[in-house]
Parts: sequence; structure tokens; C-alpha cells
Amino acid sequence: MSLPKVELHRHLEGALRFSTVLELARSHGMSVPTDPLAAQKMFLVEEPMVDLGTVLKKFLSTQKLLSSEEILTRITYEAIEDAYLDGIQVLELRYAPTFIAEGHSHLNFKSIHQAILKGAELARKFPVAVGFICIFQRILPLEISQEVLQFFLDHRESFVGADLADDEAFRPAKDFSALFKELVRQNVPITIHAGEALIPEAPQNVIDSIDYLGACRIGHGLQIIKSPQALKKVIDENITLEICPTSNYLTQAISDLKSHPINQLRQAGVLVTVNSDDPGIFNYKLSDEYDLLKRNYGWTETDFEKANQIAFEASFIPQSIKTKFWNPKTRST
Ligand SMILES: [Zn+2]
Repeated sequence: MSLPKVELHRHLEGALRFSTVLELARSHGMSVPTDPLAAQKMFLVEEPMVDLGTVLKKFLSTQKLLSSEEILTRITYEAIEDAYLDGIQVLELRYAPTFIAEGHSHLNFKSIHQAILKGAELARKFPVAVGFICIFQRILPLEISQEVLQFFLDHRESFVGADLADDEAFRPAKDFSALFKELVRQNVPITIHAGEALIPEAPQNVIDSIDYLGACRIGHGLQIIKSPQALKKVIDENITLEICPTSNYLTQAISDLKSHPINQLRQAGVLVTVNSDDPGIFNYKLSDEYDLLKRNYGWTETDFEKANQIAFEASFIPQSIKTKFWNPKTRST
């Protein structure tokens, strides 16, 4: 589908082209199977995994490949080019400096960020509004998040927002309240991964992310459908949900590709947007996500236009920039 699109939820580290992954793996001396299907199995998540933790582990295979500034520049450039080719006009890319830096001792947060910005600069020839979101990782000690906070504040002008990611069962949102309070104090727009996993505390995590972390958007959030209280909170406070249906299926947050509560959420009055999460590692495009919604959930062009308008308004990219690139009436080929 060639509809113009806004993508709010895409991880840079999960958006690598498969051909690039294979090339980098070979150049890093990894033994990559010559059989394409076996090679796909090594790096991609195409079938539902046992749980979210298992999926996150898969990311470590590609993480090893992010070993130099040149590679980071290249994957950023390619991620923007791929988004452009898929009809995306407004693109928020998020990444965790701690995740990329792990095991790469010659890289630091600053050199990582500069390499990524260089990729975005080279990709300016594509008419896409691009903004970066800095991810804080739940699974790391809080002292490390403090280091990320300092890095973030030092580079505030080249980020559009902040996020807290990783397995939400690992540590409650409340533990990060002091850190996010500081971000909110500095007027940083906040989105939080919450209400994703199929665990009893998921809806409460959404409520806590709004109350304690200042979230105005929630990554996923689909589990609020199980809690009238969480649902009401999200509606009353005009919180936008970054829904990623295929990702939710692959991480087993929903049991099959026909049982996502996206339509119930919309009907209840929730601001719903459609996103791809990790198009590289999940081996699909945002337009595939649109096709899925069209096929299984009866979405029409009008529904996509509404979701994109919601996403455009909720985008953290400054109004003056995103307006320049967003033209909902344009159709790409
Ligand atoms: Zn995500």
C-alpha cells in the first residue's frame, strides 16, 4: 500500500536490512549458513517466540554487528531510506546507547550518537522528517541510567524525546520516577514501553508510566483493554498508543493475528497509531502492517488516514519540521 505514513515506534537496532546483516555478519567472521532460510532463522524473528525475553535475546545477534561508527552511520542511512521507500514521511527512530555500546569498548555514547546523526545527515536527500528518541533500559542498574541521562541532557537538541524499554516484568516503572521527573522538568516529551506483555500488572504499568514517568505516549499499551481503569486513564488524558500488531503477535502478547484489541481500543475512544517496532528483525515493512489491518481488521483508507493524523499530531518532531514533510494526499509508487 502506498499511503503516506507516520511511524512513531521503530527501533534503529531492529531496523537493519537483512542483506546488510548478512554482509556484516560475514565481515565479523560469523559463520552464516549459505541456505537463506537457515540464515534467516539465525537473525530474524518470524514466528511467535516463547516470550518477550526470548525475542529480546535475538537482538543480541545483530547487536554484535554494530561495532563501529561507520556501521552505525550506514544502518541509520539505510533505515531512513527504507522508511522513505515504504511511504513514510515522518519517522521517529529510537535507540538505546547502552545497548549499542555493550561489548564495543571503542565506542561511547557520544561517538555512537554522532555516527547515527551522520547517517541521518547523509539521508537528508530523502524527504522524510526524522527525529531520534533516546531509550533508557529497564534491565540495567539505575546508576547506568543516570549516565544516560547526563548524555541525553548534553545532547538534548538532537533528540526529540525519551523512552523506557525492555521487558516490563523486570522492574516497575515507579523505580524510574526520579529520572523521568528530571526529563519532564526539562520539557522532554516521554513515551514509555508499557502494557505490552501478557502479565497481570501490564495495565497498572501503563497507569504508573503516565502518573510517575510523565508519559504522553505509550509504546504498545494494548493490555489496557483488560482494565476499565487503565482504559479510562488513557482516554481521559489523551494518551496516544503506539500499536505494533505483528510485534505483539511475535512476542505472544496476543495469541494470533486476528485477536489484537486494536479495534476495541479505537471504538472505546483511544488514540491509536500503527507502527512496525522492529521491521528488520521481524522481516516486514510498515505497509505489511497496514495490509494486515486491512485484511484481518477491516481497516479502510479512511481508518489509516485517521491513525496517521493522530500519529502526526502526537509526533515529538517539532511542528515546523514535521509539517514540511507531511503531505497526506501524496501517494508514492
Ligand atoms: Zn518497541
